[in-house]
Formats: sequence, C-alpha cells, structure tokens
Amino acid sequence: MSTQTNLQKDVLVLNMEQQLCEIAGDMYGRKVEELSDQEAYYVVLTLARRLLSVSNANVGKKKVYYICAEFLIGKLLSNNLINLGVYDKLEAILERKGKSLGAIAEAEPEPSLGNGGLGRLAACFLDSIATLGLPGEGIGLNYHFGLFRQVFADKRQKALTDDWIEEKSWLTRTDITFDVFLGGKKFVSRLYDIDVAGYDSGVNKLRLFDIESVDESVVKEGILFDREQVAQNLTLFLYPDDSDEKGRLLRIYQQYFMVSNAAQLILLELKESRCDLRAMYEYAVIQINDTHPTLIIPELIRILVEEKAFTMDEAIGVVSRTCAYTNHTILSEALEKWPLAYLEKVTPQLVPYIKELDKRVAQKYADPKVQIIDEDGRVHMAHIDIHYGFSVNGVAAIHTEILKNSELNAFYKIYPEKFNNKTNGITFRRWLFSCNRELAGFLSGTIGDGFKKDAGKLEKLLNYRDSQAVMERLSQIKQNRKRELADWLERKQGVRLNPEAIFDIQIKRLHEYKRQQMNALYIIHKYLEIKRGKKPARPLAFIFGGKAAPAYVIAQDIIHLLLVLQEIVGNDPDVSPYMTVLMVENYNVTCAEKLIPACDISEQISLASREASGTGNMKLMLNGAVTLGTADGANVEIRDLVGDDNIYIFGQTSQEVIDHYEKADYVSRDYYDKSPVIREAVDFIMGEQALKAGHKENLERLYRELLDKDWFMTLLDLEDYIAVKDRALADYEDREKWKRMMLVNIAKAGYFSSDRTIAEYNREIWKL
Ligand SMILES: *Cc1c(COP(=O)(O)O)cnc(C)c1O
Repeated sequence: MSTQTNLQKDVLVLNMEQQLCEIAGDMYGRKVEELSDQEAYYVVLTLARRLLSVSNANVGKKKVYYICAEFLIGKLLSNNLINLGVYDKLEAILERKGKSLGAIAEAEPEPSLGNGGLGRLAACFLDSIATLGLPGEGIGLNYHFGLFRQVFADKRQKALTDDWIEEKSWLTRTDITFDVFLGGKKFVSRLYDIDVAGYDSGVNKLRLFDIESVDESVVKEGILFDREQVAQNLTLFLYPDDSDEKGRLLRIYQQYFMVSNAAQLILLELKESRCDLRAMYEYAVIQINDTHPTLIIPELIRILVEEKAFTMDEAIGVVSRTCAYTNHTILSEALEKWPLAYLEKVTPQLVPYIKELDKRVAQKYADPKVQIIDEDGRVHMAHIDIHYGFSVNGVAAIHTEILKNSELNAFYKIYPEKFNNKTNGITFRRWLFSCNRELAGFLSGTIGDGFKKDAGKLEKLLNYRDSQAVMERLSQIKQNRKRELADWLERKQGVRLNPEAIFDIQIKRLHEYKRQQMNALYIIHKYLEIKRGKKPARPLAFIFGGKAAPAYVIAQDIIHLLLVLQEIVGNDPDVSPYMTVLMVENYNVTCAEKLIPACDISEQISLASREASGTGNMKLMLNGAVTLGTADGANVEIRDLVGDDNIYIFGQTSQEVIDHYEKADYVSRDYYDKSPVIREAVDFIMGEQALKAGHKENLERLYRELLDKDWFMTLLDLEDYIAVKDRALADYEDREKWKRMMLVNIAKAGYFSSDRTIAEYNREIWKL
C-alpha cells in the first residue's frame, strides 16, 4: 500500500504545473497568471492538501497522543511545501507565471491557537514527530478566534477578535463526533483534522475538537462575550480571561471538553486496532503538556471503571503507565489549582474519582505539600499528574534541577525515577529553511545538506571561523534581512528603521518576569545619555513585540511605557538620528519569522530561575543573533555550547534569586536609593516628559510597582545589565569579532533542533 501512495504523490508532483492550472480553472475559470495573490493562495492550498492526502501516514504499533490546550502553528503553506519537498519546484513554476510564492503565502491567515512559547513548542514538536516518522498526533481545541489580535490605540493595547477560519482552510471536517457531558448536560462535539507533514517523511494529524453550537455572534465589544452561554462560547477563544469566576469556570469547561474528547478518541483508536485495554500502555502514550489536560487521568480511569469493567486498582494502574507529564513553569500562579466546587459544577462525574485519587495519596503520604486536594478544597492539577503519571519532565537542564531540588522536591523524594529533563527545541524547517531561505541555502552550499536531517552537522561551520569570505557572507545575509524587515515595518506600521542600526530585539509575551521593563529603563538611560551629548558609535534600534494578557494590568502598563518611549524618542530631533524605539503591533508567528532573521542582539533577560526554557532564544541564535541574557532557562545551555566569549550573560544567578525569595530580603527601594543611574531612569517614568506623552494612571502604577514591590527584581540586575549591554554594543563595532560570534552561534544551534528533543522523548519516555 505504501509504495502505491508514494507513487500517487510522485505522479502528482511530476504533474504539478498541470494540476495547478486545473485547480485555478475549476475554482476561478481563469489562468494562474490572472489570479490575485489571495486567489492564488486558495489554489496552492488546494494543491498542497491534495499532496498531503496522498502522502504516507506514519504508522506503528504504539502511538503518542500529545495533548495540549495550545498549538501555535502559524501559517502553514510554506512549511508544508518545504516538508513535502516541492517548495522550490512550485516557486519556479509560479515565477514563470509572474507570481511570487512568498507573496502568495502571505495571504494565509495565521491560526493563533496559542499564547506563546508553550503553544509554539507543541507546534514544533508535531513537525519533528512527523519528520522522525513517529506515529503520533496532537489533540487540542479548534478555537474560532484563538488569541486576540493586538492593536495600539492611544498608546495602549486594545484586544480585538482574530477570525482565522475561512471557507477554504487546512481544516478537514470529519465524521467523528462524541457526546460530552458538561454540567450534567449533553453536548455533541465534532472533530476537525489538520495534516502535519514531516520533512521528507510521512504525515501525521493535529486533531482539533469543536462544538457545533458555537455562535460567534455572542461576541460584543472587542473580545467581550457572554461567558455563561457554554454551548455558544465553548470554543470561541483561547484561554478566556480568567480573572473572575465565570472566566475560570469556562476554562474548566474547555479543559474537560478537550480531555473527554481526547479520551474517547484514544479509546476508539485502540478499539480499531483491537488492542487489549489492559495493556493500553503498549499501544498508546499520552503526553500531558502542562497541566491543562490533566483531567484526562481521572476521565480515563472513570471510563475504564464505568464502561470497561475495570476495578479501580486496575484502571489506576493502566492509566498511570500510559500518562506522562511535562512541567513548563515554576511560577506558582501558573500551576493550576481549581476549587473542588468548580469541578463539581462542570464535571460532577469526575469528582468521586478525584476524591479517590486524593484519598490514596493521603493514606500513603502525610506531607501536605504532595496532597491532591488541599485544606482549602482546591485540586492541584500538577499533583495528579505527578502521582498518577509515569514521567515528569522539565524543559531545560536548569529548570529540571530547580524542580527536583526546590519546587517539586517533596515529589522528587518520593519518585526520583520519574523525573527527567527534555531541553526544548525548535523546528529548523520553519525557523531556518522557511524564514531565512538565503541563510539556509548558503549553509548548504558551504557545509553540505547533511545538517538538514542531522542538525548537529551545523558544527561543520566552525571549520570556517577564520574564513573572511564566509563571515562576510553571513554578515551580508543579516544585512539583507534587516533591510527587508525595515521595509516590511514601514509598510505595516509606518515607522522607518535604519538598516545600518544595531537591531536589538526583545520579542515574547509581556510579563514582569521576562522584564521588558528592565529594557525600557535601559532605553531611558541611553536616551538621557544621548541628550547629554554622549552619542553611540552607530544608531541603535530597540525593537519589541509581544501581547499582554487582557487582565494583566502591569503588563499593559509596560506596553504603555514602551509606546510612550517610542513617541518621545521618535519626536526628539536631538536623539532620533541615533536611536529608535519600536513596539511591533500584534506579535505572532508571522512577525517572528520576519524579526528573528534580522536580529543582532537577542534579549533574553528574564529573572533567573523564572523562565523555564525559552525557545525564542534558540530561534534567534540559529539565525545568527548573539544572546544578551541572564543565566536562566536554555540560556545556560546556550552559554555552555558557545562559550563565554560568544554570549553576554549578566545578573544574579538562579540560586541567588531563589535565596532572595526565601529570605524575602530584596527591597527594590534600596537599589533605587543607592544608585543615581537607577534613580534617574525610574524617575523618568513619572517625569514631565513622560507624563506629557502618556497617561498618569498607567505610568504612576508602574512606577509604584517598581519601587514598592518589584516582585521580579528589575532593579536588582539593572546596573549590571546596563554595563554588559554597553559592552555588547561596543563589541559590535569590532566587526571581525562580531561576525565570528554570529558564526559560532549558528554552528552551535544544532543542539536546539526539536528533532533532537523529540528523539529524546521517544528514547526515554514514549518508546514508540
Ligand atoms: C517562539 C515564540 C514564542 C516564545 O518566545 P520566548 O522568547 O521563548 O518566550 C512566543 N511567541 C511566538 C510567536 C513565538 O514564535
């Protein structure tokens, strides 16, 4: 069978031009040459879907189900064409017809089915699972709007809906529907599939569940909607605002809806493959990505007991050998704890099972830190995963050590064998081959194609660390991307960047622990220096991108400050020739693909111990940016790989930070009082100029936060940050040195291929 379907694909590829013309004729009654880019996109989409449908599926006895509330897949066209091996051929065909494949790909709406790193990781993993030929699928929800679209109005973030589902899309409506009981009422789900092509390999599926009764008309102003109409709103938005009870309840509805469907789908597939459910773990492994899908554990146990005649012991035993958990954070507010009363309302059928799981833990262990239901009646989702899963992994070496030695130490003492590390990775297909085709082509020409399948081979580039010609080309390619970014931003946002400037980029979700506010204070410092006549050696461009959760007030204030600085600097003729501040609107995967290849300095300045891994740092390194960061997350592993000479690390260590929290001895005001540099920068926020450009309400709140709380210790590392960033900017002028740093960073990025990460998951957890 497999040879036949391969043949079918080969024939299609051979006749691609004819296919393309036929589809254009059928859909529009016109020639490809006469189509708009938008129309051509639908034609190429149809062609790509045909190719996917005749490609081999990755099959095998055992399958991984990667369950996740988010899959931030981004636009799919280019990536799919690359993975199907037809990008270059199709590009050439289209070029002959006067069309640009790049421009056509731009017409695709981006499915924003994730918030940031977590969802993007899940998307990279699907790509690598398929590329390695592993049987596996992602399971999640088909949010109609996904994450909100960000616009700036009056220097503040405004959240609008982001409608991504069109009549023609990558979604395939299936005949699979399930009954799901929410709050005692029956709802009917429907499964939609998206094909995921591996690179020069077979195809897997991303399976997204939806509910037929969803009604987009319940949305009112912006992203506000009636949150009590579950039938109408269940899959409308990703993670609706959970700052109040209605929002939190809706989130549990979504989570249970996701896992009830997942459990039914998995059991259906197991039935179809005639497996013995009592040996379920020989056929299926369920990776619970963060705590959102945790309820799959009690749900599977419930079904096995109530419908498959398992005893409680048997059901718990089988499910515990099937489920594995990935932890993504040590921020306690992100470790979900749901009041039992909420679960009683949403999924009363699960509550007896959760109580049983809790009882068994309580009988065995007295430590209150490891209980499932705490004294306040809250259910700790991560604790279910750790007790009733067979594997617990962190996502970077330092993160896993912190889990073992402090955050989850009580669990580590009970189950040392469950804990393991899987340092995150990124798919090079999207973050190099697709977003920086010129660099990928140059690398192939220099070190051969081997790195495309085995990313470790990028190290061959080190043989060229003394080649003027190679370093010069790397620098030219960077310059080309900077020019393209400047053009794109001018079209998109009407701001012109000087491509000769140093591009210093911080792109990621807005969060105090990621410390965009520290970068903002640096910018104030630089602005004042220039005002006093100390000009930088070359212009500086400080570029930001990121969304703030709508209920996260301080994060909104930080955006406001950045936009205020953008205006102050932009309108100041003394300073604007030397520096620019730009906050890119609506940061998403599409923006990332343009910003990352153009970056010189990659800002990774989280408070040490708080960023589990980061993956933006890996994408930027791969594209020749040099990291300026704290010894946090995967930055630590980047440093180990490139060496201290090829990275800028500053600030206190994670152990020092953990000690500050433990002793509660950090007082931001002490740092403010001690340092005139810090004082001047912080005071600027409430100074005349800022108040004139911005809103007192936002600026004052942020100012107070920095002085009275500063929970993420901005002022702790600020002086060190200023010193090390100034050193990086000075080093940039030593062009030889900088180009060599670029080369070393690219050469050492192979370790961060998600192919390596997934091979480790498979070898040590999934065993497919
Ligand atoms: C990679 C990526 C992220 C994660 O960035 P971090 O710097 O690791 O937080 C977030 N959003 C998008 C769109 C991404 O592509």
